[in-house]
Amino acid sequence: MSNLFKYLPSVDSVLTRLEEEGVIDGLPRTLSRDLVNGFLDVCREEIKGGIVTEEKQLSAEVLFPRLTCHVRAGAKPHFRRVLNGTGVVVHTNLGRSLLAESAVKAVAEACANYSNLEFDLKTGERGSRYSHVEKLICEITGAEAALVVNNNASAVLITLETLSKGRESVVSRGQLVEIGGSFRIPDVMTKSGAILHEVGATNRTHLRDYENAINDETALLMKVHTSNFRVIGFTKEVSGGELAELGRKYDLPVYEDLGSGNLTNFSGLGLMREPTVQEVVAEGVDIVSFSGDKVLGGPQAGIIVGTKKYIDMIKSNPLNRAVRIDKMTLAALEATLRLYLDPDTAMREVPTVRMIMEKPENLKTQARSLARVFRRVLGDSVKVGVREGVSRVGGGAFPEQDLKTFLVTVLPQVNISVEELKERLLSTEPPLVARIEFDAFCLDPRTLSREEYHMAAQSVLQALNLD
Ligand SMILES: *Cc1c(COP(=O)(O)O)cnc(C)c1O
Repeated sequence: MSNLFKYLPSVDSVLTRLEEEGVIDGLPRTLSRDLVNGFLDVCREEIKGGIVTEEKQLSAEVLFPRLTCHVRAGAKPHFRRVLNGTGVVVHTNLGRSLLAESAVKAVAEACANYSNLEFDLKTGERGSRYSHVEKLICEITGAEAALVVNNNASAVLITLETLSKGRESVVSRGQLVEIGGSFRIPDVMTKSGAILHEVGATNRTHLRDYENAINDETALLMKVHTSNFRVIGFTKEVSGGELAELGRKYDLPVYEDLGSGNLTNFSGLGLMREPTVQEVVAEGVDIVSFSGDKVLGGPQAGIIVGTKKYIDMIKSNPLNRAVRIDKMTLAALEATLRLYLDPDTAMREVPTVRMIMEKPENLKTQARSLARVFRRVLGDSVKVGVREGVSRVGGGAFPEQDLKTFLVTVLPQVNISVEELKERLLSTEPPLVARIEFDAFCLDPRTLSREEYHMAAQSVLQALNLD
């Protein structure tokens, strides 16, 4: 077995050949060397593991095509574009929201040029980075003041740290949620220094539960959106309005972590009614926080709105510097929020909102057109159909609720299973992510743009030809 090792080519001879064949054009020498070494390590493992048993398995004709694939794959940027055929609009693993065109332009402008990020063009003196969006957020949400931070997780952290450090926050047991990616309300509370005072039962919490919990150590009454799950049946939750009234009675601030925080009224889609940020603010809740990149459809950000007194306290917390928003995000956020000044414009131009609101009859037309592209590109190698199915909003918004859609079903007619097709599509260029349902590989046009139909078909073509 061990004498097979001597048939492995040397790193330098391999590099020379890759160079001659143009495989490593433009790649830094150290990277190509690492990739070749990595490949040769795999070969050594194969010899040790008894996968490679003969000299001819190590010949240039056998090794080079594999090596070329390995080097090409390793040379690609690690972070790259993926086609989302899942129909999950705010797909956390695939980057959540896509930015509107105007927001993309604003980001490019902000990062390629100097700007008035913290410069007041009226006075020529130092300005505030928050000034670019605060008025806009207040105008849209009806709040008195606003602050933006890195994401909603940091919004929760800094709000609790500012208002409840060393003192108690009263929260319902039904709202001690884990969002995923290790964000759990009890843990964030501990990190902020706030002391959790749980009240009520998992399924039912009453106003009197909050009231009975209030004592000298109470600093805050908090409500958390249950985001990614739903408690059904015999349930009771206290509304923001009721809690706000209780807060006023005892002179305590009331904070609601809205999670997704939609600015759009999504009624008419068959989804459960969710209060908008505007409605929660109007209920009198003192502080409300929500994400910028969930159903709002902007960049990753945490938006905190509320009464000036509390927002000012949060703004001047030294922790604010550690969670501050960067200029590209700020540019994207301002551009996105400007679209919300007219709700119809937002529905048309914010991709997340548009995709959620897409009408089933349009999705049917899109599915048919996607199916046509697949038939044209892939011919008889796949069987393509269209059938009714469901999409999800995702991002912890509208959990367990279906949006009607039409799916394109793809069944390979060559010798490969649906599961294998799905797996191979992870290494095509671009990769295509979708789900298996009805025993077929299913693509949801809700999350694919028309420009991507052909790309998706090409990816499937590549997948069928891989082995
Ligand atoms: C998503 C979510 C968060 C975290 O927001 P990020 O913007 O992802 O940091 C916090 N609280 C709730 C209720 C959420 O749904």
